[in-house]
Amino acid sequence: MINSKLFKFQASHTRFTLIFTSLMYVVCNAFNFDKIAKWFYLGDTLDYVALLAYLTLGLSLFITFFAIFAHRWSIKPLAILLIILSAAATYFVSKYNVAIDTSMIMNIVHTDPTEVSSLLSTQMIPYVIFLIILPIFIVINTTITFDKPFAYLFSSIKLGTLAFVIGLALLYLNSNSILRAGNISQKYIIHSLVPVNYIRSIITNISNTIAPVYAGIKKKAEFSGSVSAEDDLIVVLAIGETSRQKNFNLYGYDRKTTNPVLSKVNDLHVLNGIARLASTLYALPEILEKNDVKLTRITSTLGIDTFCYVNYTLYDNCTSVGEIKAENCKHGGKCYDEDVVPLLEGNLESYNSGSRFIVLHLGGGSHGPLYNNRHPPEFQQFSPMCSDADVINKCTVEELYNSYDNTILYVDYVLGEIISKLDNSGAPYVFIYLSDHGESLLEDGVIFHGMPPGISLPPEQAQVPLIIKSSVPISLTKRDEYTQQDVYDSVLELLSIKVDIFENKGSFIKLDEHDKSPGVASGIYAKCTSSSPNSSQPNNCG
Ligand SMILES: [Zn+2]
Repeated sequence: MINSKLFKFQASHTRFTLIFTSLMYVVCNAFNFDKIAKWFYLGDTLDYVALLAYLTLGLSLFITFFAIFAHRWSIKPLAILLIILSAAATYFVSKYNVAIDTSMIMNIVHTDPTEVSSLLSTQMIPYVIFLIILPIFIVINTTITFDKPFAYLFSSIKLGTLAFVIGLALLYLNSNSILRAGNISQKYIIHSLVPVNYIRSIITNISNTIAPVYAGIKKKAEFSGSVSAEDDLIVVLAIGETSRQKNFNLYGYDRKTTNPVLSKVNDLHVLNGIARLASTLYALPEILEKNDVKLTRITSTLGIDTFCYVNYTLYDNCTSVGEIKAENCKHGGKCYDEDVVPLLEGNLESYNSGSRFIVLHLGGGSHGPLYNNRHPPEFQQFSPMCSDADVINKCTVEELYNSYDNTILYVDYVLGEIISKLDNSGAPYVFIYLSDHGESLLEDGVIFHGMPPGISLPPEQAQVPLIIKSSVPISLTKRDEYTQQDVYDSVLELLSIKVDIFENKGSFIKLDEHDKSPGVASGIYAKCTSSSPNSSQPNNCG
């Protein structure tokens, strides 16, 4: 008989929260420590500071989560549920190296009993005893004391907030190293960190389920607008991915010939585009949304035929007309950015007159860490390349640049194809290309893209290509830099659209035939004649 008194514990709810979360976190992640630590190596040296900061960040978030939901009646059931889920997650990460992400959680939700039984094994027994039965026994036998309602709530809030602030501070102080490890591991450092991995995935799944319902309830921002002139014009807005100015010959790059096609295109306007946010999810609305109103919603609502053709996705930035994905792709079914071109071509065939707005999402672009996944094999022209996601430890800077340059070479090809289709169609068009954000390639030790909120982007991530070509006479406003919101305004201006909730103040492109902005002082718009496509000056127009 076990003397049950030996297993009787008592703790205040804050002490229990701290001890329970810390113990569970340390024990579960000790099993998979090497799987996380290996992404924090710089050469042969383990970046202990960054690793420790990352692990403490995970624990801080876990403590905050637990403090929010652990109350008098929920604390023990929650602890027991977390014990079971964490043991399962630890086992599967440890034995099968699985990444526990949103899709994994969806698979678990939809799994059937046969699949479950096929995963059971005798190897699980020690995990069940030491990570489930023993901890649950201890939790059940612990008397958790609570202060009076307000006092205990206050101490919960204090603990949760303190943990959160510590976590946030560690993230900001070590953002470079943590983001680098996250990118190189393709988020595996998150997907293997128990219980952050499954809690995050469950929350994402729940929010994905709720989002459409919420969108239905949420009142859309009201606007009214008008189209003042019915020009025959197609505005094509091509949005790139992770391409930066620095590696375009058009912007003065001379290490490799990355723009053999665009360099030969006449009358190309090469401008200094500036991105503000370096995550696709947040950068796309910088281009396609203003004051909560999507650009495609305005154009389609005002009767302009609007289309979105995508490789990857524009997320919810084109829901008013729906996005059409590239399919039946040439390279054995694997789609690349060039596969949106036939969709554009088909669209142009149906064009007779009037105005039209076409968004092309070139979502493959130059996204790492496996740059060569973003273009067909025939564009692997600069070698040796870096073909390992661990670009810092497995590749030289030259290999990294070669790989990245191959993606720019491919962007050059795709943009050339788009411009050539537009020219061949004979349709009156204005074509705008810009990237969602740039990329760091080890400048100042920074790699890939993404910065915590509030920290400005390094130039390599901020300076994005912004390239304009038109078959009709246009004038461009001369500026040192052009923001993504300026592009939004310019599209409205080109389509002669005015809305009541904001002005197109940032617009910098104007059709020459008629002056739609009588309020604008003459001389602000300088006529763009042919600009040298080889110029190293981004602002060679205007
Ligand atoms: Zn992006």
